[in-house]
Order: sequence, then structure tokens, then C-alpha cells
Amino acid sequence: MKRILLVEDEPTIRTAVRDALRSQGHDVDDTIDGAEGLRRARQGGYDLIVLDLMLPGLDGLEVCRALRRDGNRTPIIVLTARGGEDDRVRGLQVGADDYVAKPFSVRELLARVAAQLRRGEWGAAASGPARLEAGDVTVDLGRLEARRGSEAVEALTPREVEILRYLALHRGRIVSRAEFLTAVWGYPAGAAIETRTVENTIVKLRHKVERDPRRPALVLTVHGAGWKLGEGVRCDA
Ligand code: CA
Repeated sequence: MKRILLVEDEPTIRTAVRDALRSQGHDVDDTIDGAEGLRRARQGGYDLIVLDLMLPGLDGLEVCRALRRDGNRTPIIVLTARGGEDDRVRGLQVGADDYVAKPFSVRELLARVAAQLRRGEWGAAASGPARLEAGDVTVDLGRLEARRGSEAVEALTPREVEILRYLALHRGRIVSRAEFLTAVWGYPAGAAIETRTVENTIVKLRHKVERDPRRPALVLTVHGAGWKLGEGVRCDA
């Protein structure tokens, strides 16, 4: 059983999602209001937050941004309006882990919830370093921040940080796309998923943290096999 916070003002969706999550054995707290959702999320103790974006009071993007600014790493799935491409992108930019576009099937949402909960379990168990350094690049994994020399770079997403942490925890070996999809994205092991999401995430990560993204020092590509942590990377516990 997991504790899930549901923030959704639309009564039919709220009821359907709450009942479906409870039918999976989860303990669900729900509220219709963004500010109240933020208050409860800050009290902590949740394994996952399902967050609508269009809410009375404080909207979902603000709630998400505020939590990540606090350093709260609880997985967040945002519910976006149909065709709200911008909302999806903005949701991920402010630190959401996944999104589900309305109208969605309960089954689809439950699959995303299960994926995030598995990922959360791994994240909670993760120890690993707090900082990585390569040359003049420093990454603060806890704060989702990086610097190149004296210059701060665009904030990292929780997923980008988890890629770095996972590579650091498994230093010296190659991590495949399938392993990342299971360990960091939370997909079931062995699921045949055709996706370039790992590659795309690593490209974005390199543009943030690498001095020269074409000749990376932190996350190295091993052609045909996966990725590994650069040999010159220093890890601080
Ligand atoms: Ca709404």
C-alpha cells in the first residue's frame, strides 16, 4: 500500500481516480484545491502525487514548481488537458515525472502510477554520491543544480539526476537502455519498449552539464551497449 495525494477539482475525474487507486490497495488523500494540495504535499509522507494542472487557487504548475524548489522529490504525475502540448512540456520542465493527457483511461493512469511507484522505491533506496565533478563541472544531485566553472547551468530534472546517480552507483560498468528504463523510468523489467526517451534525456542532460556535449566527460556512450560514467568523474559521498 502506498500513500497517494490526488489534487483534482473535477468531481467525476477525482472520484474515478480515487476509487481506482483505492481498488489497488492504496491510501488516497484528495483535495480540489492547489494551495491545499501544496500544503499537504509539504507535510510529506506521500509516495506519489497525481496533480491536475488547471486548479482553482494555485495551479498545478505552481504547485509542482514550489515542491521541487523545496527539494521535495516525491514523484508527480500531472493531468493535462487534451492537446495541451505546452502543458505537458511545461509540466516536465517544472519537475513533473510524467503526464497523462485527458481524457485518459483509468487503466492507463494506473499503469503510469505503478511505474512511478516502482521508480520511487528505487529512488528512496538510493544512497550514492551527493556531488559529481568532472573538470570544472560540478553537479549537486540533491539540489538538482550544476555549475560549469562559476556559471550556473539550467536546473536538472529529477530524471536527469537519477541517470547520473544510477551511473555513479554502478560505476565501472555499462548501463543499457533497458536497464535505465526499468531502474530510472520504472517500466516493468523485460517490457519491449520502442522508445528513444533515454537517448533524448541524455542528450538534454549533456547540453546542460557537459563542457562539450560532443565529447562528454560525465556520461559516455558505449556504442551498441549503453552508457557509463566517465573515468575522470569524482564522486563525493
Ligand atoms: Ca481542473
